[in-house]
Amino acid sequence: MSTGSSAASWAPSDRVLDYTQRFGAFLSSEIDPLEKELAAAGVGTPWNPALDDDGRMHPVVWEARREAQRRSAKAGLYNPHVSAALAGGGFSRVEMQHVEEYVYRHGGLGLGIAALAWTEGANPAIEHCSDAARGRYLEPLMAGEITAAFCNTEASVGTDVLAMSTHARRDGSDWILDGAKAWITNAAFADVLQVVAVTEPGAGTRSLSMFLVDANAPGVRRGRDIPTMLSDGLTGELEFDAVRVPAENVVREVGDGFALAMSWINWRRLCRGGMCAGWGYWLLDRALERARSRQTGGRPIADLQAVQHLLADMDADVYAARAASLVAQAELDELGPYGIPLHRDAPRLISLVKVINDEAFFRVADNAVQIHGGTGLLLGSPEEKLFRVARNLKIPAGTVEIQRNAIARGLLR
Ligand SMILES: Cc1cc2nc3c(=O)[nH]c(=O)nc-3n(C[C@H](O)[C@H](O)[C@H](O)COP(=O)(O)OP(=O)(O)OC[C@H]3O[C@@H](n4cnc5c(N)ncnc54)[C@H](O)[C@@H]3O)c2cc1C
Repeated sequence: MSTGSSAASWAPSDRVLDYTQRFGAFLSSEIDPLEKELAAAGVGTPWNPALDDDGRMHPVVWEARREAQRRSAKAGLYNPHVSAALAGGGFSRVEMQHVEEYVYRHGGLGLGIAALAWTEGANPAIEHCSDAARGRYLEPLMAGEITAAFCNTEASVGTDVLAMSTHARRDGSDWILDGAKAWITNAAFADVLQVVAVTEPGAGTRSLSMFLVDANAPGVRRGRDIPTMLSDGLTGELEFDAVRVPAENVVREVGDGFALAMSWINWRRLCRGGMCAGWGYWLLDRALERARSRQTGGRPIADLQAVQHLLADMDADVYAARAASLVAQAELDELGPYGIPLHRDAPRLISLVKVINDEAFFRVADNAVQIHGGTGLLLGSPEEKLFRVARNLKIPAGTVEIQRNAIARGLLR
């Protein structure tokens, strides 16, 4: 069991400082005008969008996010996390944590946070695609021209991934895909679907493969929206009825689906570090402002020790989770955060990042609501929305219980 790398550095590098300076300027020059346009359209905000008749994110809000992504790609800000060999930024996990923290602290809940590729963009799993698929899917994804969805979960199978029933069988050199996925972020809008399916039943962690499926291919059907407490109209179902998938759309090798799914999931887990630090400090800044300006008995509530303790608890949680994440990300940069096979010491560290951030950020968001009083409960306020986001975080990309399983496995090995 590793307990921290002495050689590692977690200070922001020069290229991180360059990135954040350029991202800050991009927020003012490109995102502010887009947000003003969106506000004038009267279809809600990026974090509280109006929904269409099918319960999906209003198309005008979706298009504003897409425009932010295209502009970001053009400005060279969309793909710092993608390998340099694939024309991405080649940033390490420590560097990405600093980038994510900046984007979430300064982007808040606006369009700016869509300008850093998230689940709808390029990811460590799709980096393993074939040369043919690179031109067809990866490059357009990196240019912000198309979006992706990761399709792993099914209605009756979430945590228990190896029990999934979506399957693919060979037909000549092609594959025929059948099944259904549920709880998929971006199911309604994605252009390319990263589908995990059974190709060799009974082969354990070698039983699955990952396919890139054109979302408009015959046999693909976008199902109903699944309304969650996030209320963003972005979670849905997908059905696959004898969908023909060419061999070149298999990601890496047949049988690598579980490892590829884990590299996507582990990427999401590690992104918690910067996201929770960024949003955590944003909420703390807002709480400090509120505590200084809100009066009780003729004095600011910031004078009350009860309120000071809430502020101090927020600071302690953000500081501790951020520091722990940076140390773990530095260790993971040495081990390889998404290696296939993954280094045996990596899963514990990845799960530590997720569980520490999920639980600390939930307390931070709760205290932020408390300091704002009734205003913190106002539907659509940043505190109210981030409280719902914080509650959500403990489930997707592996529940907090599953993270504890992985940590314990690492300890007891
Ligand atoms: C907003 C949202 C977005 C999502 N986006 C995506 C996406 O883009 N792509 C995708 O593929 N999936 C996505 N998911 C699905 C998500 O990954 C699953 O919901 C999650 O993995 C948990 O699975 P489950 O819901 O089936 O819960 P279950 O597996 O049914 O778990 C229920 C409870 O049992 C516990 N439990 C289950 N098994 C164990 C075990 N072995 N040990 C200990 N405890 C256990 C869990 O911790 C939990 O408390 C999304 C979900 C949500 C809510």
